[in-house]
Amino acid sequence: MKELFKKYNALLTGHFLLSSGLHSDTYFQSALILQHPLVAGKLAENLKNEISQKIKDIDLIVSPAMGGIVIGQEMGRAFAKRAIFCERVDGKLVLRRGFSINKGEKVLVVEDVITTGLSTREVIETITPLGADVVAVCSLVDRSAGKVDFGCPRFSLLSLEVKSYKSEECPLCKNGSAPVKPGSRK
Ligand SMILES: [Zn+2]
Repeated sequence: MKELFKKYNALLTGHFLLSSGLHSDTYFQSALILQHPLVAGKLAENLKNEISQKIKDIDLIVSPAMGGIVIGQEMGRAFAKRAIFCERVDGKLVLRRGFSINKGEKVLVVEDVITTGLSTREVIETITPLGADVVAVCSLVDRSAGKVDFGCPRFSLLSLEVKSYKSEECPLCKNGSAPVKPGSRK
């Protein structure tokens, strides 16, 4: 799986300056693999096969905008279920566009990448009061190496323990290299 992500430049190793200001030796950009619909569809099928072994009923897919939308749609296709998304309005995640959740619907929350688990938890907190029964969480990549607990089963195709450092403590900087901003042109 790692090789597949690398093949599409979705998984880069080097010395990166993250948007958080931290430095890291690994960078994941899911859009670069998800831009290929046939590959995205296969990734979703793989996740579905893994999830289906443990979770029998899923009624609805919910993902957070923007990062979760593409893989969320593909997971909806794999399960042949509705796929909707939450988006941020004035800093708060909400359902818009006439999307709704029926009381007791069994929901799979889908992310592209889980790092701290914060946005996943926000999705769960947004949709549970609307009647959602969150039965599982899945992501393409889990950068917490399974450390975050959502109170339900979780699945990912690739689990990575990504180390990140404050600039003054970065061992890569100490070795004399300079960090690059992922996505910027050289
Ligand atoms: Zn550094």
